[in-house]
Amino acid sequence: FAPWSDPAAKPYIVFENVTKRFGDFTAVNDLSLSIFEREFFALLGASGCGKSTLLRMLAGFDEPTSGRILLDGQDLRGIPPYKRPVNMMFQSYALFPHMTVENNIAFGLKQEGMAKADIEKRVADMLKLVKLEQFAKRKPHQLSGGQRQRVALARSVAKRPKVLLLDEPLGALDKKLREETQFELMDLQQELGLTFVVVTHDQEEAMTMADRIAILDKGEVMQVATPTEVYEAPASRFVAGFVGNVNMFEGKVASRDAGSARISGGNGLTIKTENAGDASAGSDVVFAIRPEKIKVSSKKPADAEANVAEGEIYDIAYLGDMTVYHVRLADGQVVKASSLNAVRISEDPLSWNDRAWISFRPDAGVVLTR
Ligand code: ATP
Repeated sequence: FAPWSDPAAKPYIVFENVTKRFGDFTAVNDLSLSIFEREFFALLGASGCGKSTLLRMLAGFDEPTSGRILLDGQDLRGIPPYKRPVNMMFQSYALFPHMTVENNIAFGLKQEGMAKADIEKRVADMLKLVKLEQFAKRKPHQLSGGQRQRVALARSVAKRPKVLLLDEPLGALDKKLREETQFELMDLQQELGLTFVVVTHDQEEAMTMADRIAILDKGEVMQVATPTEVYEAPASRFVAGFVGNVNMFEGKVASRDAGSARISGGNGLTIKTENAGDASAGSDVVFAIRPEKIKVSSKKPADAEANVAEGEIYDIAYLGDMTVYHVRLADGQVVKASSLNAVRISEDPLSWNDRAWISFRPDAGVVLTR
């Protein structure tokens, strides 16, 4: 499933140069974005970056100040929320406290004037879908947080919308339940064949669930890509720093040839990279590399004419599955390197204040010019 890589595929939801101002504050700035049918799409960004505003405009609770939003080719401007084939699930779930689970799920269907027998059938289907058959007669306060979340989900898909918008859908759950529920949401989306647009500030959540992620900052899109691309090939320093851990080395491009470049950095570090991006010879760049791509050893790697630097072990954090080393280089820059314990611990024991060498391969890391 990768319609975005097919130039002939038609997007389902299109934000076209959308701007949203509140007074003289610009919450969304000339933003363009396409989402495909049946895609699980995540809007990821820090608080205040405009992600909820985008959802609200898609749902019809707000209109863009300028620009257009299209759904299946139709301009949504002026169409009220209840006439859009879109439903929204809020973080607070907004369940009716005095109603049973089944009545909460049936509520929207009754309002639509659906026949009683059809409602019963639909509610039963929904309860089965979210595995809450035994809880039909309970009230929300008699349920756990995870069960309430599933009722909210059942209610928001009961009307069979084409698009489900989820604003921090798992925000109220603890870490363990969140992780389980992420997989349930993915299964549910597959089963129903819906397009999901989820807002989250949790990068792991976006990485786990989404087909593609849009990373937003100050009302603008920084990058739209698959989780792997966002992590392995971030488009800018902002994205590299926002998603996951990263080390950034400042340097100047000494030479470049096809996709490769040599960069002279501080600490006597010469970087030889196969991922030179659009960096031109002579320019100042940043080389970004993830901690797990850096090896730490007590001996200088043999025959290494580039991609090595000497330092001192400054900190060691044992995290169970892996160990994170902080290595201080000559100029004081602290480099993070992590390795899986299954591999590392027995291999080369290192302790605080030891001299150590960091090294990495030419295909690890990317050169960033923005
Ligand atoms: P969070 O994760 O905190 O919900 P967000 O990325 O969803 O953040 P939005 O709710 O989209 O952010 O808000 C984007 C910006 O627009 C914020 O600075 C917010 O204060 C502002 N904003 C949102 N709604 C309004 C409004 N009705 N009036 C004025 N400013 C608003």
